[in-house]
Amino acid sequence: MSMTRRTLMAGGVLAGPVLASAPGLAGGGAALAAPAAGLPGVYRYAVGEASVTALHEGGVMRPLDASFVRNAPLPEVQAALEQAFLPTKTFPTTFTPLLLTLGGKRVLVDAGFADQGPPGTGGALRGLALAGIDPGAVDAVVISHFHPDHILGLKRKDGTPTFPNAQVLVPEAEWRFWMDDGRMANPPDALKTNLGIVQKTFGGGLKVERYPWDKEVLPGLTALGTPGHTPGHTSFRLESGGRRLLIASDITNHPALFVRHPDWSAIFDMDADQARATRHRMLALMADGRAPVAFYHAPFPAAGHIARAGAGYEFVPLQWGVELA
Ligand SMILES: [Zn+2]
Repeated sequence: MSMTRRTLMAGGVLAGPVLASAPGLAGGGAALAAPAAGLPGVYRYAVGEASVTALHEGGVMRPLDASFVRNAPLPEVQAALEQAFLPTKTFPTTFTPLLLTLGGKRVLVDAGFADQGPPGTGGALRGLALAGIDPGAVDAVVISHFHPDHILGLKRKDGTPTFPNAQVLVPEAEWRFWMDDGRMANPPDALKTNLGIVQKTFGGGLKVERYPWDKEVLPGLTALGTPGHTPGHTSFRLESGGRRLLIASDITNHPALFVRHPDWSAIFDMDADQARATRHRMLALMADGRAPVAFYHAPFPAAGHIARAGAGYEFVPLQWGVELA
């Protein structure tokens, strides 16, 4: 098969509409370029008796400016992107919800956007269809935190639940923060868009249940408090048949930046210092325990391992068809 230069170079920048500035809506972003955009991406791997199906929701290219990493000069950020062979003027953000088959139940971890996202997203539902799974057959959706890229997909644009039979499980700490009446009534500017989305999503029509940290959300899936990115940000330990997977949600945004440089703070981390401490703690745990990991914003299929590398770490993606160690 011949691969033309055009195919190889197709990851360029498309013009796109200006989007809202809430995290995950990728302010001013454009869709990822063809040919990857629009094609469903589905990758399934085993964790003991459980299976994990990574669903490529799609992605956006976000214009990179000095505000994205709050505590590093732009040229250093661009150098890190260049070192990872990524574009330096725009910044790729992808989204990967996971469908777990766990104890006979179908459990989605984070919801993507459904039909409510920026151009270039919505692939998770196409991926589910490709995997032969009807949205009505999803038993539970477990949410890691309330940023739009994780919750918007709970409902469609017309307000109907995307997964009509699913129990929606949300972190207690996250619910307490975002659903606070005072904050809702008097939203700080920086949270206005996000609070509106939370209200629209959780205002009614879903079967919502709150879960605490350090307990099983469902048999085999334990909630781990990893706050900082948001006040109730949660990661998960999936355990089955003597195997495990750490589902680390958004403790880092793109690994080429924040795994390589764990001290850097993305604009989306609501409490930068707490997020940094959480990131260091989790990355050390992952590297030293050689734990298989999944991140929502790592390149698809968004799973692999963490290795120590100098003062930082390195994300080592899984190899297609090879079981996670
Ligand atoms: Zn996110």
